[in-house]
This record gives sequence, C-alpha cells and structure tokens, in this order.
Amino acid sequence: MQATVYKSTGSWYVVKSTTGEFFKARMKGIFKKDGDITSTNPIAVGDTVAIVPEEGGDHTAMITEIADRHNYIVRSSPHRKHQKHIVAANMDQALLICTLKEPRTSQGFIDRFLVTAAAYHIPVILAFNKMDLYKEKQVEQFAEYEQLYTEIGYQVILTSATTGYGVPELGTLLHNKTTLMSGHSGVGKSSLINALLPDQQLRTKAVSGWSGKGLHTTTFAEMFDLKEGGRIIDTPGLREFGIVDIPKAELSHYFLEMQPYISECQFNNCLHINEPGCAVKEAVNEGKINVERYVSYATILETITEEEY
Ligand code: GDP
Ligand code: ZN
Repeated sequence: MQATVYKSTGSWYVVKSTTGEFFKARMKGIFKKDGDITSTNPIAVGDTVAIVPEEGGDHTAMITEIADRHNYIVRSSPHRKHQKHIVAANMDQALLICTLKEPRTSQGFIDRFLVTAAAYHIPVILAFNKMDLYKEKQVEQFAEYEQLYTEIGYQVILTSATTGYGVPELGTLLHNKTTLMSGHSGVGKSSLINALLPDQQLRTKAVSGWSGKGLHTTTFAEMFDLKEGGRIIDTPGLREFGIVDIPKAELSHYFLEMQPYISECQFNNCLHINEPGCAVKEAVNEGKINVERYVSYATILETITEEEY
C-alpha cells in the first residue's frame, strides 16, 4: 500500500495511505537513501513510502520501501553537527511568512532564504502578514517589495491572519500543492496555518497522540492537509531553509535577476565585487538591479568560507 509521511520522529512515523487512512508506522530494516547524507533518520516528512499494515494492529504498519525523492532539504543535526538530517521531501514550493511590523523581517533574511530555495530549485511565495498593523510607512515598504520580488519572479501576497485579509488568495496559491512553510517565530505562522486548515484539524503547540509523550512536537516537521486540497509542511524551528554549500563563484546564479548580466562580465570568474568590467555592478549602478539585493549578495558572499581541497 502506498502512503505519504506526515510526521517523522526518527523512530516512528505518521503516514497517510492513498485510501485516506492514518497509520503509525515503523521502519522495517535499514534503508540507504541519498547516499551523500549521513542520516540518523532516513525517512522524512513528504516521503512516499510503501507500507504493510500489521495484522490485528490498531492502524499500525511497517514501512518497507521509500520512493525516490524529487527534492529534499537538509539541516545539521542539532546534536552532531557533522551529521545532516533530512527535514522534508517532495515539495512543490515554499512559503516564507514575513512581517513588516512586530517583528520586522529583514531583507537580508528574505534574500538568504531565496538563495537557498533557488539552489534547491524550489519556487517561493512571500507572504507579508499582519497587514492590519501596517501604517503608511509599511504600506509603502510592502509596495516596494511587491514590485521588486514580483519582477524577479516570486509570488508576493499581503495577508492578515487576524482579519482574514488575503487568506483565501493564499489558499488559492497553495491549492493542490505541497508547500513548505517557514518564517521567524512570532510572524503568525501558526495563526495562518490554522486559518487554512479544516476546523477539526487545528494545529496545536501541545504534544498530541500516541507515544508522543515527552517529545516536543515543535521539534519535528509535520504535514497538514489543507481545506481545499493540498498540503503544507510546517517546520518548527527551521530558521534557515535547510543548508546548502554554495561556492562563492556560484552565489550570483541564485540571485535570479543577476543571471542575464553574469556572462557579460569581463572575467568569467568575476565575483562582482571590485573586478574591472563587471556587468553586474554596472547594472546596479544603472538601477537595473536593486541596490539592497546587491548588498544582500555581498553580505552572503562574505559569509561563505570555502574549504581548500
Ligand atoms: P508563529 O510564532 O509564527 O507561529 O506566530 P503566531 O501565529 O503564534 O502569532 C504570534 C502573535 O502574532 C500572536 O499573538 C498572534 O495573535 C499575532 N498575529 C498573528 N497573525 C497576525 C495578524 O495578521 N495581525 C496581527 N495584528 N497579529 C497577528
Ligand atoms: Zn561581475
């Protein structure tokens, strides 16, 4: 029987079969998947698996197989830094919840998220939440962001979980897709998720169900079905959108609006900082590339420490 993983704790899993039933499942044997990853937990939320329901069990099952993933994101294991852990798999897109007030999401953070998502080839929707709190200054700031990021090719939406503004439109963008949700704590992620879920399936921050006792549910990614069809993956505590090693020379490829200029630079290993004949810098000077985006680029570039091989 085929199923999708909705929750993964490392020792047991919640899966939903194609017939719509939930099972508490365990792994049978040891699988090796995506061999470049040393993982303590080979099964991630979003994985498609084969299960065999246990006879006489109360919706318990064994996982016998994991299907190939079309994508996945990883992060360092909290306890063993050199180990990587698969957070989620098989996403169609990512949704970053931002706010311009209480708290303010920095553009640097947004751009870092976009770079990583681009490296994973995952499209991003930027939702600016708490619009009910915006004064003239934030309304103007939103208009600027909307223009900037829409031109680059991202979807941008204005929402309020409190008044419901933009929530149906957000629902439409998530319809029939699997979306990874991310954002700083306090931006209204839980409130928006609850607004999008069927009433009986409210997400709580408390521990629930089965042997979840003593585990903080907030540590694990979890998938939810949306009211109108589609799924979201909530990733509590995932500050960055996974980790990915981007060589300095490749960083500009993930600033999508820089792409047309890169090949015009005089040096083909141009980092677009102080090289002569740099077409990217020229585009910044001519206003064709947003200055703040360029600042984000230079800032991220500085944080990349490349290992010598
Ligand atoms: P999370 O930490 O991102 O999951 O954020 P929560 O959903 O727990 O929300 C954090 C706080 O912001 C709570 O007090 C919410 O009531 C409030 N909040 C969430 N969305 C909105 C909104 O759209 N407008 C306003 N004014 N407050 C909001
Ligand atoms: Zn250049």
